[in-house]
Amino acid sequence: MQMVFGMNGWWKRLAAGSAVAALLVGWSGNARGFDLAANGAASGTDAVASGERYVLHLHHLHTGESLDVVYRVGNRYLPEAMDKLNYFLRDHRTNDVSHYDPKEFDLLHSVMAKLGKPNGVIDVVCGYRTPWSNNYLRTRGAVTGVAKNSQHMQARAIDIRVPGVETKTLRNVALSLRGGGVGYYPISQFVHVDVGPVRQWTFAGSGD
Ligand SMILES: [Zn+2]
Repeated sequence: MQMVFGMNGWWKRLAAGSAVAALLVGWSGNARGFDLAANGAASGTDAVASGERYVLHLHHLHTGESLDVVYRVGNRYLPEAMDKLNYFLRDHRTNDVSHYDPKEFDLLHSVMAKLGKPNGVIDVVCGYRTPWSNNYLRTRGAVTGVAKNSQHMQARAIDIRVPGVETKTLRNVALSLRGGGVGYYPISQFVHVDVGPVRQWTFAGSGD
């Protein structure tokens, strides 16, 4: 069932991703992505053929979409995969798309490898947030656990859950990688992982 759903989603995303790509003015907003794309064109397919393939299997809990994607081969991030991931991780309240820091994808990949689930599915609770969405979440209660200058607004943070893995275990694995910030939300049962400065916090209330 999951495969059938995945294929349906893939076709839809392909169409949607093309529209998004057309709206973006090339890759000028993301110098790294542009350079990598240029290098890939220059070096041909040899580097691609010899490199390790990095895969992510994602399911978004708000949009209901799934994405199975090879996003990196060797040291090259694949531009089409970046487009798909950026669209998948769009602000689910406003549909705005941003450019994720590819290091965030590597961090998720490392988390799954360290959990011993390299082909496991990551449930995404929240990806990119526009300032509007972040402010909405931050101000909807007295204490919400949402930072004013959240890394979600920089497209450098994702809130995740891994089915079958205790939230605390996921938190500990993320902390061990020292790849950025790790927020522990035991009541809401998710972990915030970002590629900002290395730091950690626990939010004892519910919220994201
Ligand atoms: Zn977060």
